[in-house]
Amino acid sequence: MQNHEEARLDALHQLGLLDTAPSESFDRITRMASQIFGLPIAAVSLTDRDRQWFKSRVGVEHQSIPRDKAPCAAVAESASTVLIPDLLADTFYADSVLAGQGIRFYAGASLTTRDGFSLGALCVLGTEPRTATPAEMAALHDLAQMVMAQIELQHAFGRIDPLSGLPNRTQFLDDLADLGRDTPGRPRLAVLVDLARGEQLNNGVRAMGSAYVDAMVRDAARALRTLLGPDRTAYHVAATQFAFLAPDGVDEGRYVEQLGALVHRLRARSSVQFVMTTSVGVAPFVTGETPPETVLRTMHSAALDARALETPVSLYSTAQDSLHQRRFRLLADFGAALEQPSQLRLVFQPRIDLATRRCVGAEALLRWTHPELGEISPAEFIPIVEQTSLARPTTARVLDIGLAQLGAWSAAGIDIKLSINVSAANLAESDFAQQVELHLLRHRVAPRLLELEVTESAIMDDAGTATAQLAMLDEAGIRLAIDDFGTGYSSLAYLQRLPASVVKIDQSFVRDLCRGERERTLVRSMIALSHGLGYRVVAEGVETAEMVGILMAMGCDEAQGYFFARPMEASDFERWFAGGDPALQAA
Ligand code: C2E
Ligand code: MG
Ligand code: MG
Repeated sequence: MQNHEEARLDALHQLGLLDTAPSESFDRITRMASQIFGLPIAAVSLTDRDRQWFKSRVGVEHQSIPRDKAPCAAVAESASTVLIPDLLADTFYADSVLAGQGIRFYAGASLTTRDGFSLGALCVLGTEPRTATPAEMAALHDLAQMVMAQIELQHAFGRIDPLSGLPNRTQFLDDLADLGRDTPGRPRLAVLVDLARGEQLNNGVRAMGSAYVDAMVRDAARALRTLLGPDRTAYHVAATQFAFLAPDGVDEGRYVEQLGALVHRLRARSSVQFVMTTSVGVAPFVTGETPPETVLRTMHSAALDARALETPVSLYSTAQDSLHQRRFRLLADFGAALEQPSQLRLVFQPRIDLATRRCVGAEALLRWTHPELGEISPAEFIPIVEQTSLARPTTARVLDIGLAQLGAWSAAGIDIKLSINVSAANLAESDFAQQVELHLLRHRVAPRLLELEVTESAIMDDAGTATAQLAMLDEAGIRLAIDDFGTGYSSLAYLQRLPASVVKIDQSFVRDLCRGERERTLVRSMIALSHGLGYRVVAEGVETAEMVGILMAMGCDEAQGYFFARPMEASDFERWFAGGDPALQAA
C-alpha cells in the first residue's frame, strides 16, 4: 500500500501540475460541474502527500486544505467515486475540517491516469445535505475524464515532436531519469540515428524545399518505429536525429554489428531515396549514474565519429571525445587569448648561414600560456585556429608583435631578417598583401627584412587567390619561403612558378639524415633540385654536429635547430646574439 502511494505521488509530481497558475481550460470544467449540481462549490483537487491542492476552484477561497479527513483523499486512495450525503451524519467526517467550515454534502469522481493512479478528484460540495441522481454522478464522472484529457494534453505539449509524432528530447531525458530511478545501476546502450550531414540537409532544402526534408524525416521516423516494434520507443531528439535504447543485456560488439544492418534496412524502407548519409552513434551508460544529458552528448559524439570515419555505426570513445572537448575548449579560449596581451607571446629561433656560421635571421614562433591549462603548443592550437575566422586576427597579431620587435632590433643594430608563419586562410584574404605592407609601414621596417613562411598545402588550398597574394607580396619586396617542404603533395612544376626564394626542408627528412644512405640521397636530391630551381635552402630541425656536417657537404645554405639554439624569448635572443653561442664557435 505504501509503495502504491509512493508511485501515485510520483505520477502526480511528474505531471508538474502542483502549484501552477489557474487555467481557464480547467476552470471551464469546474464551473460546469457546479452548474450541473446546482451547488456553489466545485474543484479540481489534487491529493499531494499531506494536502489537497486545488488546480481549479469555484466558491472556495483557499488554495489548499489539509489532506487529513478530506473526502478527496478517499477518492485518490480508492480511485473510485465517493458520495457523502451529509458529512455531519458521517461518523468519520463529522469532525473534519470541511464539516467545521459548514460543508454538509460531498461528491467526488476520481481523476485516474492511464496507469491507474488517481491524482485526486473533481468534486462538488454543498452547505445543505442532499443526494445525487445517477445522471448527476455519471456527468461528474464524464467531467473528471475531461479533466484528465486536459491534463494529458498539457503534459504531452512540448513533449511530442509535431512532425514525426514521436516523443521529443525532453521526453527522452525524462524517461532516462525515470529508468535511473526504477532500475538503477544497470549498463545499457543508447543509440542515436543521425539522418544526414548538415550540408546535405541544406542542399536538400535549397534544391527541393523544406517540405522535402520534412517528408524525409517523417518517413525515417515511420521506418524506425516499424523496425523497433511496438514495445520500444523511438525519440525524435533533434531535427534530423532519432534516439532509442538497445534492449537490456545485449552484447555491445554484436549489437553494433546489428545496427549496421539496421541502417541498411532503414534506407531500404524509406520511400524517399535520400541523397543523405545516415550515421549512428552508440553510447554505453549506466542507469541512474550517467546523467541523461551526458547520454545525449556522448551518443551524439559517437555519431559524429561515425561521420568522420565514414562508417555507418560508431561506438562512443572517451579518447575521441576528450580530444574533441579539448579542441573545442582551446578554440573557445583562443578567442579570449587574442583579446588579452598577456597570454600570447613570440619566441625567436635563430637561422644560421652554414658557410659563415653567422646568425642571419630568426623565425618568430607563437606561444600561448592558457590561464588554466598552461603552455599549449602551436602544433596543437594552430591547426585548430587555422580552420576558423580567427586565422586572420592571429596572423595580424603575430605580425604586429614580430615587426615591433624587428623594428627595435634593426634600430639597435641587430641586422637580421625575421620569418613569420602565415596560414592558408591568410592567403585567401584578398587584402592580405596590403595588410602586411601596412604593418611594415607602421613599424618602419624595410620589406626585405621580412620573410613569410607558407606551407605547400596552404598554397595548394586555394591556388588562384594564393598566387595573386604571393605575387603582390613579392612585388612589395617581401621574401617568401616554402615551409615544411616535402610534406605536401604539390607538384614541383607548380611550385617553381611561385615567387618564393627559400625552401625549408622539413625536419622529418633532416632527422633521418643519420639513418642511412637512402635517407641522405633523398635530402641531397631535394637540395640539388631546389638549387636548380633557384631557391636558397634551409634545413629545419638540425639537432647534432653530425647533421651539420652532412648538410654542409650537401651544399645546404642555412640551418635552424636545437643544435644552434632553441626558440628563445626576445631578451634571451638578444643576449645570445651579442655573446655568440658556444655551439656556434664549437661547430
Ligand atoms: P614550423 O614553422 O615548421 O616551425 C618549426 C618548429 O620546429 C617549431 O615548433 C620549432 O620549435 C621546432 N624546432 C626547431 N628546431 C627544432 C629541432 O632541432 N628539433 C625539433 N624536434 N624541433 C625543432 P613550434 O614552435 O612548436 O611550432 C610548430 C608549428 O606551429 C610551426 O612549425 C608552425 O607551423 C606553427 N606555428 C608556430 N607559430 C606560428 C605562428 O605564429 N603562426 C602560424 N600560422 N603558425 C605558427
Ligand atoms: Mg615555420
Ligand atoms: Mg617547418
